Amino acid sequence: MEIRRRQSSPTPAVPSGEHLKPQKLTTTDSQTFSICVANAVFFGLFFSVAYFLLHRWREKIRTSTPLHVVTASETAAIVSLVASAVYLLGFFGIGSRTSFPDDLSDEEILAKEDSRKPGPCPAALVDTEVKPASAIVAPPAKIYGVAPVNLSEEDEEMVKSVVSGSIPSYSLESRLADCRKAAVIRRSAVQMITGKSLEGLPLEGFDYDSILGQCCEMPIGFVQIPVGVAGPLLLDGVEYTVPMATTEGCLVASTNRGCKAIHASGGASSVLLRDGMTRAPVVRFSSAKRAAQLKFFLEDPLNFDSLAVTFNKSSRFARLQSIQPTIAGKNLYIRFRCSTGDAMGMNMVSKGVQNVLDFLQSDFPDMDVIGISGNFCSDKKASAVNWIEGRGKSVVCEAVIKEEVVKKVLKTNVEALVELNMLKNLTGSAIAGALGGFNAHASNIVSAIYIATGQDPAQNVESSHCITMMEAINDGKDLHISVTMPSIEVGTVGGGTQLASQSACLNLLGVKGASKDSPGANSRLLATIVAGSVLAGELSLMSAIAAGQLVKSHMKYNRSSKDITKVVS
Ligand code: ADP
Repeated sequence: MEIRRRQSSPTPAVPSGEHLKPQKLTTTDSQTFSICVANAVFFGLFFSVAYFLLHRWREKIRTSTPLHVVTASETAAIVSLVASAVYLLGFFGIGSRTSFPDDLSDEEILAKEDSRKPGPCPAALVDTEVKPASAIVAPPAKIYGVAPVNLSEEDEEMVKSVVSGSIPSYSLESRLADCRKAAVIRRSAVQMITGKSLEGLPLEGFDYDSILGQCCEMPIGFVQIPVGVAGPLLLDGVEYTVPMATTEGCLVASTNRGCKAIHASGGASSVLLRDGMTRAPVVRFSSAKRAAQLKFFLEDPLNFDSLAVTFNKSSRFARLQSIQPTIAGKNLYIRFRCSTGDAMGMNMVSKGVQNVLDFLQSDFPDMDVIGISGNFCSDKKASAVNWIEGRGKSVVCEAVIKEEVVKKVLKTNVEALVELNMLKNLTGSAIAGALGGFNAHASNIVSAIYIATGQDPAQNVESSHCITMMEAINDGKDLHISVTMPSIEVGTVGGGTQLASQSACLNLLGVKGASKDSPGANSRLLATIVAGSVLAGELSLMSAIAAGQLVKSHMKYNRSSKDITKVVS
């Protein structure tokens, strides 16, 4: 692979080219001055003492004085000669190239920047080094490495225009009307601008049209995340094979073991307690009294129907469920909750809220809408309101794990698990001041399923709120385990769910797209599967900790014994 770099001297005619200049390391003017003075001093010293010593040598020969008889001044001269020679050799010798980056060419600096220590992933190690300046002769088409792309002259011109800033990178899709080509050109430009190789980041094999205006702006490739499967998870009498996208070794294996224990014990069961997405705008009045008047208006059951009709116009799937207004001085935070069919629902609920705010403006013209979201929603932040009131789908899931399964599959005993749960998940989390974090690792399972199925991974924050309870039952022989998760935010339509890979994972679970029988059934089922998988994950990790196996299993699955250097070569 050859990597083309941007020119080291940006064309002066391009005003925005300033940022294109490689960020050379430069010494300051004062440093440069002191270096020059020091050089001059040592040069002078070296030649003057050399002259002095030669002169003394000639004198000794002339007067037949033995050479080894040296005076104090001659000794001082010899020491000075050696010292100045050492300094000058150090400066102009091998060390100078690294000591004074001003001497480096642009390409050398870039090469230095890119010669980072390899990380643990072999894929990241392949051919990431930057070629020296002499090798940088290829056109932009050669940059891509993984799958060389032949750029036409016209495309190369476009790359140059993006690099110079005369064509904004974000406008490539609309200019070219070709999403893949836009990604190719942007990627090429990014490499030239940054001087960094994108080798290893795949470009081909992705449908860039599918993300336009929906999932990701300014694409330059895509990240690969391995997908493993855990299961079958026997939940409510149905077996599910659960896809998990993760780079954390041990996670899938552990969840799989939990699934096995649940299956061997007759399965888990779940109940969906609530299904409603929330959005809470903040509005301001000139007085707290006026804010209170709107609060009372919104709380009056007589007004709900007209508000709901207005809200529900946002979508045939949006159905307003409740309005919860909370005052802070002159400001009112109004938490709207609505069902959203099979969509996770953030867009839907936001549109409904906007409808209602527009409607309210006629009765409350002095209402100042500060923001469509006032954080009382609460999206992607750990918050008590989600923990207590729920957001998205609220699910409780339980299972009874038989004594022999705890012993044979989980390699521990009921008593140890119950005690560990009490001291770790309940007491330990209380001591830590946890908010919704009364569990061992719910977020591990939630994140992995979210990434695999195209959910918004940032909603892992509140979606992972979970309290895990364990109790010995049947005279202390068997284990009752439950996970209660009040804020599982999932959808099977919209967002990333429609992308090919994510859609395939939803299909594996039998919840792809909109439910034909009953809108919302697919997303609700997905929420219960998330909870069931968390139950399996909790069971397995807690057992590993109780049995003291955690470190051992991580060393087995998380620390590959492969010789990375061999993988690379
Ligand atoms: P979100 O609100 O989660 O951000 P989007 O608004 O992106 O989701 O996607 C929801 C879109 O899918 C809406 O346009 C909606 O009309 C459509 N849709 C089709 N079938 C369904 C369904 N069963 N449930 C919810 N939305 C659906």
